[in-house]
Amino acid sequence: HLTRIRLTEPHLRSFLHLPSDQSLLDQAHDLDRRIAAGEEVGPLAGVLVAVKDNICTADMPSTGGSRILDGYRPPFDATAVKRVKELGGIVVGKTNMDEFGMGSTTEASAFQVTANPWDVSRVPGGSSGGSAAAVSARQCVVSLGSDTGGSVRQPASFCGVVGLKPTYGRVSRFGLMAYASSLDAIGCFGSSVADAGILLHAIAGHDRFDATSSKQEVPNFLSHFDSASSLESKPLKGLRIGLIRETIEDGVDAGVVSAIRDAASHFEALGCSVSEVSLPSFSLGLPAYYVLALSESSSNLSRYDGIRYGNQVYAEELNSLYGESRAKGLGSEVKMRILMGTYALSAGYYDAYYKRAQQVRTIIRNSFKEALDQYDILISPAAPSAAYKIGEKKNDPLAMYAGDIMTVNVNLAGLPALVLPCGFIENGPTGLPVGLQMIGAAFNEGELLRVGHIFE
Ligand code: GLN
Repeated sequence: HLTRIRLTEPHLRSFLHLPSDQSLLDQAHDLDRRIAAGEEVGPLAGVLVAVKDNICTADMPSTGGSRILDGYRPPFDATAVKRVKELGGIVVGKTNMDEFGMGSTTEASAFQVTANPWDVSRVPGGSSGGSAAAVSARQCVVSLGSDTGGSVRQPASFCGVVGLKPTYGRVSRFGLMAYASSLDAIGCFGSSVADAGILLHAIAGHDRFDATSSKQEVPNFLSHFDSASSLESKPLKGLRIGLIRETIEDGVDAGVVSAIRDAASHFEALGCSVSEVSLPSFSLGLPAYYVLALSESSSNLSRYDGIRYGNQVYAEELNSLYGESRAKGLGSEVKMRILMGTYALSAGYYDAYYKRAQQVRTIIRNSFKEALDQYDILISPAAPSAAYKIGEKKNDPLAMYAGDIMTVNVNLAGLPALVLPCGFIENGPTGLPVGLQMIGAAFNEGELLRVGHIFE
């Protein structure tokens, strides 16, 4: 992996921070010594794990992709990172991202743009683009990302890897820099369903440092990866799959739709029954998401004022100190979102925007619940297109937001979803990967992993 990093990193720029090779080798050698001494070292022993830069790490910088936290080294590990380390995992570095998770390409990083390993003129997706590219280019084995509205699943799709967004509350958010707290989830990338599942198993479970983390028992996700199965044995016989009709209609790339239809046929060959299901509220997800996410972010990001958190630009007068610290430290996308969120929450507009969006969220949640009473798993594309060119949508925020249509509903409903590669569209010598999204019932990641493992 260190060789891969040396060869590919100048082209990809997945990492914002990489410790020295020596410090990584020292950790590996230390594990070797402990194994030789007969010590128990944990199931992730020696596995290189890349971590998105909005997830706090005690011994490395954590900037969230923002200048305002340039140079910040948290005094603690996020719970997810702590668990990875306790099980023997080695944090290989901190990955590039859109500033505070706000974006779909990593172009909104304050530091650098990451390239897609399949075609370096294209975006890796975002906001966890660095974590997705790192796994795709085999710079690491698995990685952690965060998913507020699709930031694990969409880059997984663009980079041809597996991305898993757990149920809200399944993984502790302690140490994850908050973007929109009612939607944020730490998620996992791997080059196979099993790899992503093993990482989820390591980080899942209740944490007393996160009041919203669930006490639901964590089943043994690993049990699903033991057996191989053949097509002839119809291993998924009886499973009911609903293909969400609204996700394969106009506006979705024809190559994406055909890859999803092929995936549906493959499910049938495995013994499932597949039918189309309509979720009439599906298109409401995007406007509701952008009202709620931006409202919550305007509140969460108020802490970066140069006093409580963030680099300070000194001024004699307090308001100027706040103003100048923020003016210098925050990027334009973040500023725009704080302004829009503040507007939506302000007296006189609150009922028209925020409250309405909350009501829509309830409608969406109920419609998913109804559909999941009828079907075991819902499927859709992970994004309406494959990876697009760097710069293509940078100056058209609405076009970029529209690309989140496939993923935001899942966060609004708090459900788990697994994205895995299911086909390609034509592009140069390698093509571009297309991702299939599988959505399951709350806390049923195990079923997604079982079915995903058989599907792949
Ligand atoms: N692209 C979406 C946004 O900009 C989702 C981001 C995320 O999941 N962090 O809000």
